[in-house]
Amino acid sequence: MTQDDPLPPLRDVIERHDLRARKSLGQNFLLDLNLTAKIARQAGDLSACDVLEIGPGPGGLTRGLLSEGARKVLAIEKDARCLPALAEIADAYPNRLDVIEGDALAIDPLAHLTPPIRVASNLPYNVGTELLIRWLTPKQWPPFWDSLTLMFQREVAQRITAETGSKAYGRLAILSQWRCDARIVLHLPPEAFSPPPKVSSAVVHLKMLPEPRFPADFKTLERVVAAAFNQRRKMLRSSLKSVSPDIEDMIAAAGIKPTERAEQVSLEEFCALAREVAKA
Ligand code: SAM
Repeated sequence: MTQDDPLPPLRDVIERHDLRARKSLGQNFLLDLNLTAKIARQAGDLSACDVLEIGPGPGGLTRGLLSEGARKVLAIEKDARCLPALAEIADAYPNRLDVIEGDALAIDPLAHLTPPIRVASNLPYNVGTELLIRWLTPKQWPPFWDSLTLMFQREVAQRITAETGSKAYGRLAILSQWRCDARIVLHLPPEAFSPPPKVSSAVVHLKMLPEPRFPADFKTLERVVAAAFNQRRKMLRSSLKSVSPDIEDMIAAAGIKPTERAEQVSLEEFCALAREVAKA
């Protein structure tokens, strides 16, 4: 159930708590609560979900998630200056916001969350890709989360959702699309943030698939894809020589043309090749 946000405008909150943005922490704040509510809605119906938010800052997206009805939000913030502003939000939404101060890369949030869990964040640019890769490569699949709704620089969002044959297609696309449906759901210009970053941004929604799209051993798929894209301009039979001396036969058995370059090889074909490599 949605409700009206009962708190003062974010500009006032930032001024009152003297939250001048710090570049070193990747701080570009969203100030428009209509926009943060719109981003929160991209995560779907949150009324029966706990939401993990990394980097709430002054709380624009946090307020969006709560006013859009999230059962509970767990927010992890590194900048202690933001804690008083977040405490005001916790008071306005009793028992629905927990805040942990610290580095999201060093904190295991699981003990504080009850499934079903969704992740929604305007990520700090300096740790965003690392967090995404961690969420996509847990020890066990299915992961702890059902979906990820994440803001990235537009170029990173394009790499996550890239199609075979496009310039942005690479390891991140394969990793993201092997076990998720991934799509860009919103584009944001620099002016949507304060201060405005140099580049445009986009929100990506990744919905977890309980089973991989195509069968493959994860470690083998990673090895093949890493070798292929490390030399993306070379033909596969050359770039994958280090994977196996019999790679040409394996490429043929996987139904891939030996002259193909990494960019041209679909996720399904990479999975078929990983299965051939794993057989040997
Ligand atoms: N969510 C807010 C918004 O949308 O306006 C702020 C987003 S800002 C792009 C990124 C936030 O992540 C900042 O508040 C920053 O302090 C925080 N942050 C940076 N590195 C972090 C880390 N390693 N762990 C947790 N938070 C971090």
